[in-house]
Amino acid sequence: MKKKILIFALSALFLFVVSGCSLNHSKPESAATPDSNKLKVAVSFQAMKGLTEAIGKDHITVESVIPDGSEPHNFQPTVKNLMALHNAKLFIYNGFGLENAWLNKVTNAASDNKDLVLVEASKGGKPLLLNTPEYKGKNVDDPHFWVSINGSELEAKNIKDALVKADPKNKADYEKNYQTFYNELESLKKEYSKKFADSKRKDFVTGHAAFGYLAKDFGLEQKSISDALLSGEPSAKKLKELTDYCKKNQVTTIFVEDMVSPKVSETLAKEVNAKAVKIYTLESSPDKLSYIDALRYDLEQIYKSLN
Ligand SMILES: [Zn+2]
Repeated sequence: MKKKILIFALSALFLFVVSGCSLNHSKPESAATPDSNKLKVAVSFQAMKGLTEAIGKDHITVESVIPDGSEPHNFQPTVKNLMALHNAKLFIYNGFGLENAWLNKVTNAASDNKDLVLVEASKGGKPLLLNTPEYKGKNVDDPHFWVSINGSELEAKNIKDALVKADPKNKADYEKNYQTFYNELESLKKEYSKKFADSKRKDFVTGHAAFGYLAKDFGLEQKSISDALLSGEPSAKKLKELTDYCKKNQVTTIFVEDMVSPKVSETLAKEVNAKAVKIYTLESSPDKLSYIDALRYDLEQIYKSLN
């Protein structure tokens, strides 16, 4: 009986947190003064901003359609959100279905900007196909390509190529910045491939299933409260299975994301006697960390949880 009440409380809490989260966490975009000499780039959400800034650095200004602090899975941009498209040279989006619900609005919003080039950052990548009960027998692409080493390497390369094409005079800098970024990712890959190969266990539990590609990069297994597309509140059955799984397998850590039901993860952690530890999906800006540092933080926290 006690368990039933707990599961009910978790479900109710999830609803409450999901419905309130985008309001509570909305932060205004910074009002950076645009420098007329810089290449103007619009992106769909924060992870694209992080990747683009890592390659473009001082040569570009980047504005995000989805404001920092709003989760990108169920977002519908307003006319105001789409303002950045009027004078941008590039619009960089993730792809793998993430922006499908509103991508047609981009061309409409930029009808006065015929030169706007659309760049699909995940182009050429192989999507992970999801087929869990939430999707009722349909295969859907996992969009979280950016939360991985291989994914962010490819996305950074596609972004670099687009910047070079749009602004060839700064080609040497874009190439150099990309090479530095790539080398750092490769050294992370090397370091953590060894660490995870020697890890005692291979499974980790998150609030939102955003780490499928990262898990695949390193031969790990992700369990989560909410599905990858945040397609609804988790069922009582799923919460019970996860609670039982954590107890049976003595899971020591439940990872908590900023924007997706942090209270549910924290409650689960308490129930199964585990620590609640923050993890970054890069869907909002990762506090004060750079893109690479946020990935490194995630990998280190996952590693610690496995040993
Ligand atoms: Zn996500």
